[in-house]
Amino acid sequence: MQFDKLNIIEPVLKALKEENYTEPTPIQSRAIPLILNRKDILGSAQTGTGKTAAFAVPILQHLHVRNGHDRGAKKLRSLIITPTRELAIQIGESFTTYGRYTGIKNTVIFGGVTQGSQVTALRKGVDILVATPGRLLDLMDQGYVNLQDIEYFVLDEADRMLDMGFIHDIRKIIAKLPAKRQSLFFSATMPDNIVKLSATILNRPEKVDVSPVSSAADTVRQYLYYTNKPDKKDLLVHILGDRRIDQVLLFARTKHGADKIARNLKKKKIKSAAIHGDKAQNNRQRTLRQFKDGEIRVLVATDIAARGIDIDNLKYVINYDIPNVAETYVHRIGRTGRAGEAGTAISICEPEENAFIRDIEKLINRKIETVQHKLFPQTDKPMNEQEKKQFEKEKQQRKQEFFSSRKKTRGRNYSNRYSR
Ligand code: AMP
Repeated sequence: MQFDKLNIIEPVLKALKEENYTEPTPIQSRAIPLILNRKDILGSAQTGTGKTAAFAVPILQHLHVRNGHDRGAKKLRSLIITPTRELAIQIGESFTTYGRYTGIKNTVIFGGVTQGSQVTALRKGVDILVATPGRLLDLMDQGYVNLQDIEYFVLDEADRMLDMGFIHDIRKIIAKLPAKRQSLFFSATMPDNIVKLSATILNRPEKVDVSPVSSAADTVRQYLYYTNKPDKKDLLVHILGDRRIDQVLLFARTKHGADKIARNLKKKKIKSAAIHGDKAQNNRQRTLRQFKDGEIRVLVATDIAARGIDIDNLKYVINYDIPNVAETYVHRIGRTGRAGEAGTAISICEPEENAFIRDIEKLINRKIETVQHKLFPQTDKPMNEQEKKQFEKEKQQRKQEFFSSRKKTRGRNYSNRYSR
């Protein structure tokens, strides 16, 4: 199927052509006609499926057609709520790109930066607002945003939003929306709490389900190295010895871990940087730009920070830690191999993570191809419950000894100082 079969208006079609989008992705070919038909949507789709265009294109079209009849001051007619700053920025950029010939204006608001320029943009008047929940409520409380004219409402990445604790903020926002509106609700997964939330927002929705959670696994080549924990960082350097891996998104479980990995790589003269929630917004944006421009080879990210990152043609993902939730693995590897491109995911597994691999293989219903590295084989065994308890006990003891010896030394220092 081609885009021109979807009754998309010429100005939007032209922008899509310029982006070299020829065929709609499955979510686009299913959702766009329904949204143009003014249906509410309950969409089960993850990032990477083309869902942004699936809602942005018909919203732009509705607004463009309507603005033709309704000249005058701009009113805020469409609101998109999304969990992270990065996602918000990317959605805003998508609206700008697809709407380039429509005259429809959007702006993006998110926390972590001063509000001045966001308020100025709102004052000028926009048709579409893309926002993270906290900053939106803040600006609503201050009277800079009014939702009374919203006709098209999108809740994006609903599952991630609840994971991040935004449920109360979302309820407050929904309470301010006009009852008569079209609502589009997207989530990568559909557990009970998400379905319940969607029922409070949607009116007789059409279901569009394009990506069962294990689907990314079908398009991405996956490899797995079993190794010992202390060897992980050297094994990583060996893997990166392959110069074909020129741009890689590497996942770390913790912010601290992410910083450490980036530091280690830099020591080995591998250009890398970490991106996570503790980094200032402008630092994150700069790092992301450098990564996209090829100045940074390895971008080390935590799951939350990475969720919002959209990198066209990203070919490599490395899991430096194996996630203990199998769905997270699928989300991670789904960052590559997007929109039909080839992608490769490489996972590095220490003994304590072997059990996570078993869960992942169950979820994706296949065995991940293992690669043996002669220098770094996995020879250690995962600990059993008793060994784990013993290990924890010894760790506590070591900690206590460490602190009590520090106290003693400090005491001595003081006594030395004061006896002088
Ligand atoms: P999304 O799921 O919205 O984050 O989109 C994933 C990626 O696919 C983005 O980089 C889009 O630019 C790209 N994309 C979306 N729709 C199409 C399409 N119909 N043809 C080619 N690329 C697309």
